[in-house]
Amino acid sequence: MDNNKLLDRLQKLQAVFAEKESELTSLDREIGDGDHGVNMKRGFNAVKENVKDGSTQEILKQTGMTLMRSIGGASGPLYGFSFVKMSEAAKDEIDKENLKQLLDIFDQTVSSKGKVTGGEKTMYDVISKAVQVLEESGGLKLDDLQNLADDTEDMMATKGRAAYFKEKSKGTIDPGAQSAVYILSAFDLEEE
Ligand code: ADP
Ligand code: MG
Repeated sequence: MDNNKLLDRLQKLQAVFAEKESELTSLDREIGDGDHGVNMKRGFNAVKENVKDGSTQEILKQTGMTLMRSIGGASGPLYGFSFVKMSEAAKDEIDKENLKQLLDIFDQTVSSKGKVTGGEKTMYDVISKAVQVLEESGGLKLDDLQNLADDTEDMMATKGRAAYFKEKSKGTIDPGAQSAVYILSAFDLEEE
C-alpha cells in the first residue's frame, strides 16, 4: 500500500462513517451518551477535508492530528494519537511486515493511553485481537473483524462511560469496538 492508496482508503472512511453514524449512535445510546456516531463522522469529515496529499508518514500524522482535534470524546485522543504514533514507524510503501508493525503500535498506544487490557469491552478488544489473528493467519477479512466486535457484546464494560452500566453493559456491542472494525478495514488486512 503506497501513500496514494492509503490516502484514498482513509478518505473513503468519510462515506463509511456517514453511513454508519446511526448504527454507532444507537450502540452508544445503550451504553454511553449517544455521541459516538456523530464523533466519528465529524472526525472523518475533517480528514477528508484536511488531509489531501503527502508522504505515507505525513498522511498518517495529519490524519492523527485531525482526529485528535475533531472526534472529541474518549475515542478521539485514542484513535488520533495512535495514527500519530503509527506515522513514526511507517514506510513509504506499507508492506505486510510494516503493516504488522503499525498495528502493533496501534495496539500498544491504545493500551497505554487508555490504560486498558483485553476483555474490558472497548475498541482495544478488536484492535488487539486483530493483531493476534493477523499474526497467526496472515490475513483478516471484514467478517473476521466484525466477529471480533460481536465478541464484545457479552462482555461487561470496565472502562469509559459504559463501565457505569456495570452488568447492564452486557448485551450491546461496544461502540468503539464497532468503529475500530471500520478503521482497521482501511488498512487492507485481507490476505493477498
Ligand atoms: P465518550 O465515551 O467520551 O462519549 P465516544 O463515545 O466517542 O467517547 O467513545 C466511546 C468508546 O471509546 C467506547 O465505546 C470504547 O470503545 C472507547 N473507550 C473509552 N474509554 C476507553 C479506554 N480507557 N480505553 C480504550 N477505549 C476506550
Ligand atoms: Mg460517547
